[in-house]
Amino acid sequence: DPRIHDIKSKIRVVPNFPKPGIMFQDITTLLLDPKTFKNTVDLFVERYKNKNISVVAGIEARGFIFGPPIALAIGAKFVPLRKPRKLPGEVISEEYTLEYGRDCLEMHIGAVEPDERALVVDDLIATGGTLCAAMNLLERAGAEVVECACLIELPDLKGRDRLKGKPLYVLVESH
Ligand code: IMP
Repeated sequence: DPRIHDIKSKIRVVPNFPKPGIMFQDITTLLLDPKTFKNTVDLFVERYKNKNISVVAGIEARGFIFGPPIALAIGAKFVPLRKPRKLPGEVISEEYTLEYGRDCLEMHIGAVEPDERALVVDDLIATGGTLCAAMNLLERAGAEVVECACLIELPDLKGRDRLKGKPLYVLVESH
């Protein structure tokens, strides 16, 4: 698909951000071209439009860029999964380990109902810890996670293996 090559070419790689040794994959450059941004959303919409998905869960912050247009196009609700103490209502929380220390994602209680079919969206999978925490939140609410979707996978980190046996769909790989 020629759209994939264009998307890959518009992701900027920033060496040594946010710290030495990291090659940061920056999707903000892709957003500057409306055609590329639309193609990105369209690729996900084509994949998920007839899959009976009732909820798209987007991970803060870049899952909030791609999740909502996908949700609108496939007729699903959008649920934000946020960093701690951002959501005003009652929440459930999932802690996960980072390279250094721990982080946490939260979801509003009542946003997702039992037996809903969920798609989890983020920009990038590295170790898979973030997506795993997101899936745990949805499953605790009684939803079935149909798939996780990211723009970029860092396959060397094998994050895919942490996704509880659920499928992962990505547009591009980065080494
Ligand atoms: P994981 O939990 O190790 O899979 O890390 C994935 C999370 O870290 C996602 O929410 C990403 O947005 C973020 N992340 C890690 N590396 C990058 C990067 O190079 N570019 C953009 N986001 C990144």
